[in-house]
This record gives sequence, C-alpha cells and structure tokens, in this order.
Amino acid sequence: MIYKNYPMVSRVVFGRGSFNQLDEILASKRKGRNAPFIFYVDDVFKGNRWLTSRITLSYKDKIIYIPTTEEPKTSQIDQLVENIILNYNELPSGIIGIGGGIVMDVAKAVSLMLTNKGESKDYQGWDLIKNPAIYHVGIPTISGTGAEVSRTTILTGPDRKLGINSDFTPFDQVILDPELTKDVPKDQWFYTGMDCFVHCVESLKGTYLNAFSQSYGEKAFDLCKEIFLDDTLNSEDARDKLMMASWHGGMSIAYSQVGVAHAMSYGLGYLLGVKHGIGNCIVFDHLHEYYPEGVALFKAMKAKHNIELPQGICADLDVQQINTMIDVALSLEPLWENAIGKDWKTKVTREKLMTLYKKM
Ligand code: NAD
Ligand code: ZN
Repeated sequence: MIYKNYPMVSRVVFGRGSFNQLDEILASKRKGRNAPFIFYVDDVFKGNRWLTSRITLSYKDKIIYIPTTEEPKTSQIDQLVENIILNYNELPSGIIGIGGGIVMDVAKAVSLMLTNKGESKDYQGWDLIKNPAIYHVGIPTISGTGAEVSRTTILTGPDRKLGINSDFTPFDQVILDPELTKDVPKDQWFYTGMDCFVHCVESLKGTYLNAFSQSYGEKAFDLCKEIFLDDTLNSEDARDKLMMASWHGGMSIAYSQVGVAHAMSYGLGYLLGVKHGIGNCIVFDHLHEYYPEGVALFKAMKAKHNIELPQGICADLDVQQINTMIDVALSLEPLWENAIGKDWKTKVTREKLMTLYKKM
C-alpha cells in the first residue's frame, strides 16, 4: 500500500477583516520593481471600493477582473499567461486570486503555467506539472468548493473537463476572511454551500473513507447541518462556519474522493455548461438510492431556504447527447470506485445513468 503524500497550503490567515493584512503579507514576497503582483478579482467586485480600495497597487501591479459567467477554460488560461509574458519583462512576484472557485482556479492555473512550457490542456490530469508554480495566494469570497485547499484547478479543455492535479497546485497562502462573503446572493450561497455538503456525504459514504478524511468530513457535515438547518445561528457566525466547513470538506476529499453526484454533474457541465455548484444540486436531488440520509437532509435544507432547482434540463436532449454525458461521467473511474466499490462496473450501467439523467 502506498499512501498519498499530500501537499497542503503553506500559510493561512483566518478572521473577519483579515483581508486588511494582504499588503503586509505580500510585501516580503515582492521580487523587485519589474516583478508585479497580478490580482485576479471576480468581476462582481468591479467598482466595489469596499473591497478594491484595500488592494494597494505599487510599481507595475495590476488588477484584472475575471468574468464568472463560464467556468475557466484552458484557452482562457493560455491567453492570460501570454498577456503577462508579453507585458512584463520579468515573471510576476505573485498571483493573487480573489473570488469564488472560478477565480481561485484561474489564479492557480496561471501561476503554474507561467513556469511550465506549452499549453495548459497538456497538463490536465495527474502530476504532469514539472516545475513549481510562482507564488500564489487564494482569497475566497464565497464558501463551499474547497478550492482554497485543494491540489487541483478544474479547467474545461478542448477534449475534456479535468483538473491540473499536482503537488505545485495548492496555494502558498490563503486568506480566509468571512466578511468577504457577506454579499453573496442567496441562491448562489446555497449552491456553493451544497458543494461542501455533497463533498462530505460523498467522502463519508465512500469506500475510500479513512480516519483522516472522516475526521474532517464529519466536522464539515455537522457544520453544514448547523448552518443550513439551525435557526438560532446569526449570519456572521454562519459565514465564519461555512468558510471553515468548506476548508474541512476540501481536506476530507483530499484524502478520499468525491462520488456519484460529482461524476454526473461533470456530464451536465461538459454538455450543457451547467456550473459546478448548481449541477451538483440538480444531480444530488435524484440520488436517494445512493445517499438516502444525505439526500433527505439536502431536501430539508432546500425546502427551508425556498430554493427552486431548475427542472427538466435534460428533457429535450437526444440519446446521443445523453450518451455524451454518460461517457464523461463514467470516465471518472475513481469517483465511481469510491462511491460503489471495486466492482462498480457491474453495478452502474449506462441504462441506469440514462434513467437518472432523464429525470433531471
Ligand atoms: P463561482 O466562482 O462560480 O462564483 C459563483 C458566483 O458567485 C459568481 O457569479 C460570482 O461572481 C459570485 N460571487 C462570488 N463571491 C461573491 C461575493 N462575495 N458577493 C457576491 N457575489 C459573489 O462559485 P464557486 O461555486 O465558488 O466555484 C465554482 C467553480 O469552482 C467551478 O469552476 C468549479 O469547477 C470550481 N471548483 C474547483 C475546485 C477545486 O478544488 N479546484 C473544487 C470545486 C469546484
Ligand atoms: Zn465539488
């Protein structure tokens, strides 16, 4: 048995208002006047002085706003890297991603591709990255994905949606400031929060479970129940707790794996462009057969917060399109093995997935 030697985020700050320490944290990392800090900021914050006035730009530092209508593409990463190379004579001192999973993944991917030759699509997979990334910092403004702790950056390439998984992917520094999440719209809060809840269920109910994953997963699962079902929790505490639930959920899957909802949600994402959080919700809603208690809790949370999920998104798809989603879902073998066991291929049939997708 070979155990994973898992890289972790080197430094983390936690606390309301801790974003104010960004300047001080970056100061010691500056390599010179010609080596800028590049700040990728979720474009929802454009014109939001409450946030942007706390980013100090010196020398050639730059803020670049990242749109979040679509999840990151390999071509987009290659373009961002090229822009940096064409505009500066030196490598940046660091890349800082301020936003949700999309912006954090963009920051991770660009920091890796600045030191690794070629196109980012060639690095989608496991451990294909050869050289360490440049210094990179993640600052979540919405909680749930666990992208702040993970060793992957999920990208849609020409052929597939797959992460760049490597020991160099995790952030060197993370700033967890729950205040940054205060204006997240309610539906999005729910979808991204449920990504965390689903991480916990899939990890805790998976065959890869071990004490490491369980200890983080159970904590995050309990926090989610409190955040989404307990009326007595005030909104500030709820934000603090969801930020930590996201972290713990990410740590839990780091040492185990996700499962059926993620596999099928990747299919929806690939064919229909359905985003990660809402896609997981749409799928998970139909998975009582696999995760009975988790799905019952999910439905209770959904009802409590009056969340209406889109229905019938697969109703007009033809067989070929559904087969494409099934191919994408089934290609994620470790997810199925975790969810069902080593003999999953005898238990999960294409017909089964066809029936499930048709319900969504
Ligand atoms: P997101 O980045 O898609 O953002 C969702 C929406 O929330 C956007 O419209 C954004 O503008 C808005 N938003 C973010 N912060 C806000 C704030 N403070 N106030 C108001 N609006 C705000 O959301 P997400 O669910 O965090 O990330 C999903 C992405 O993360 C997907 O691309 C998925 O593939 C990726 N992901 C990565 C990992 C990983 O380990 N790398 C894990 C899970 C998901
Ligand atoms: Zn997820």
